[in-house]
Amino acid sequence: MHEMAVTEDILRIVEAHAPADTASQVTDIHLVIGELTSFIDDSIQFYFDILSPGTVAEGAALHFRRIETRFRCRRCGHEFEPEARDWLCPKCHALGGDVIAGKEFYVESIEVAAKGMTLE
Ligand SMILES: [Zn+2]
Repeated sequence: MHEMAVTEDILRIVEAHAPADTASQVTDIHLVIGELTSFIDDSIQFYFDILSPGTVAEGAALHFRRIETRFRCRRCGHEFEPEARDWLCPKCHALGGDVIAGKEFYVESIEVAAKGMTLE
């Protein structure tokens, strides 16, 4: 269960980038999560709901963008998206390879609106 720690990281990042004035509020937080991180959207949302009240991110909506795992074959250089249990290169059938996508985890963007002007 790493979601609590990463949710705290998310809040720190949002607080560092949100406008300091109290007239605006964060409405949306866009997250990018690679499949290989094993972070679960629902768990992050769960901790966000607990941790965000009282912060600049209170009431903001979380958006998750998943990045599929991609490997580059070490033998032939072919890039492929492995199936759940089949990490064989589809070209030369070597096992696995270098991970070139799927480990991402970051705040892609935040949206801020003036207080009282958000659309319901
Ligand atoms: Zn290959």
